[in-house]
Amino acid sequence: MSTDTPRPLKSEQLQATDEIVEVAPGVLRTQLPANITGLGHVNMYVLEDERGVAVVDPGLPGKDSWKALTNRLAQIGVPLKRVHSVIVTHSHPDHYGGAAQLRAESGADIITHRLFRTFYDPTEPPDVDAEELALMMRSPFEAPPWGGPAMDVPWKRKLRMRAAQTFPRLMKVPTPSVRLRETDRMKFAKRDWVAVHTPGHTHDHLCLFDPETGTLLSGDHILPSITPHISGLTAHGDPLTLFFDSLDKIGNFSNQISIALPAHGTPFTNVGERVQQIKDHHAERLQKLRDTSNSLSRPASVMEFSTHLFSPRAQGAMADSEAYAHLEHLRLLGDFERRDIDGVFEYVLKG
Ligand SMILES: [Zn+2]
Ligand SMILES: [Zn+2]
Repeated sequence: MSTDTPRPLKSEQLQATDEIVEVAPGVLRTQLPANITGLGHVNMYVLEDERGVAVVDPGLPGKDSWKALTNRLAQIGVPLKRVHSVIVTHSHPDHYGGAAQLRAESGADIITHRLFRTFYDPTEPPDVDAEELALMMRSPFEAPPWGGPAMDVPWKRKLRMRAAQTFPRLMKVPTPSVRLRETDRMKFAKRDWVAVHTPGHTHDHLCLFDPETGTLLSGDHILPSITPHISGLTAHGDPLTLFFDSLDKIGNFSNQISIALPAHGTPFTNVGERVQQIKDHHAERLQKLRDTSNSLSRPASVMEFSTHLFSPRAQGAMADSEAYAHLEHLRLLGDFERRDIDGVFEYVLKG
């Protein structure tokens, strides 16, 4: 494939519009602006019932997103104080940004998976062990565990992140008021939704499934055309295995899913097929790592493997982190060996 041809935009990359569409009975899709790596918008779903509305993933922190959010609710004709629930699928800022503000305005419940937590969250949820906590609270500008350079963060953002760690309120980090466990049920849009824990993209990723209409709120777990980022910076030693298991978990009942409502991009119906495509994508990456090690015939660092795995455009801390997740997966499978050379990890295919 030529790198000169501009690729057509994927639906996840399109800019937010003010279009509002009923995508499932009583479920409206609205879009909020989110111009962050590879994305153009975040979908905020609005679920209507006699009590008011529940919203899912209320966008990034900040004025622009908040303005769009209040505009969308006004378009639908719902006053802010009628928002009774805010569902946050996982602990990324493009999903929780408006949650704390909504709760302040309306007293809405903030509903997450039991394990929900962010880098900035100083409150300790129950059942999190000390090691997990330490890793999750790791500063993003420390050098990564595989020995690469610390994330290159512009100083202005660095200051903001430091401030956010000291004063989480500034980052609008929400404190969940309802933490769901696997198979817990909650009523939205006049129907029961079942909590499905889908760790991988993050440890705390939550999907909600309504068996009555076959509607799945899929968050970032399954997107229509891009594959979600799998970070190696996690408390779990093998996030890729978690992700595969969570894909199978959804794949196993995909025949009951009539529509998936992703956090980015257009809703889709071919869930079983998407699950398989995403699995194939990672299988190809794993094979690429084996082939790379084979042709190098020597141990190599995470950063070196990363340059073989990702296009020059995609290089950087996120690419390294994803390469690390794949290399650790292969090591735990017994395919690769890891050496620690003065604090820098090197990997090689076992002979
Ligand atoms: Zn995410
Ligand atoms: Zn996202």
